Amino acid sequence: MKTMRDRAEEVRLFIEYAAPPEHRRESLALVERYETDPVALGLLHAFYSFLPEAREDGIRELRLLARRQGNFLIAALTFHTGYYYLANTAQAEFLGELGDGIWEDEVLDYFGFTSRNELNAKHRDLSGFPIYASLQGQPGLCPVCSAAAGEEHTLGCPVEVCPWCGGQLTRCNCRFLQLGKARLDQEAHIEALAGKLREKGRIPYEPDQRPGYPKAGEGEAEG
Ligand SMILES: [Zn+2]
Ligand SMILES: [Zn+2]
Repeated sequence: MKTMRDRAEEVRLFIEYAAPPEHRRESLALVERYETDPVALGLLHAFYSFLPEAREDGIRELRLLARRQGNFLIAALTFHTGYYYLANTAQAEFLGELGDGIWEDEVLDYFGFTSRNELNAKHRDLSGFPIYASLQGQPGLCPVCSAAAGEEHTLGCPVEVCPWCGGQLTRCNCRFLQLGKARLDQEAHIEALAGKLREKGRIPYEPDQRPGYPKAGEGEAEG
């Protein structure tokens, strides 16, 4: 598995080819700023590996437009234009150009927009939206799945507390006992477990679940 450091090195290499020479330094500075943040680094990697319009460009700024359950809607402002990305700690997906909007209704729904027009109107001026802060700078978030306080963890997150025994949901035996199975190795098992959890009521993320939990992430820079 690639470490974050490997990914950051790849992004730097891509920038040598992708960013216009006069903007290379600024593009590299942004990588330095976010190189220990899996969400932003994934976005940068996605951008520079598939330049949206197949022309030289670089990202100068990331602004956070919306956040829900560890999924971040981010505007990547480039030297020519800007783009929407949906990113979490596992992946980053290109959604479209700013001003043109997002065409996937599921994404609009998910973040509470009723239409593409509403989204475009809200994002006409991005100066009021905060610069995306790396996850280390957001102590209110689950360190693994980035759920905010009061939100449910992503199923499978090792920080989630088991509602049956109060232990660690991914480690205790409750999931096997609840389903009467010795192993959960099928999609149907996971769905059944999700159903049982809904009935019982899941325990949302709270920052006091952090202490003592081993630090998430890999290959993080020192300092
Ligand atoms: Zn979590
Ligand atoms: Zn349990």
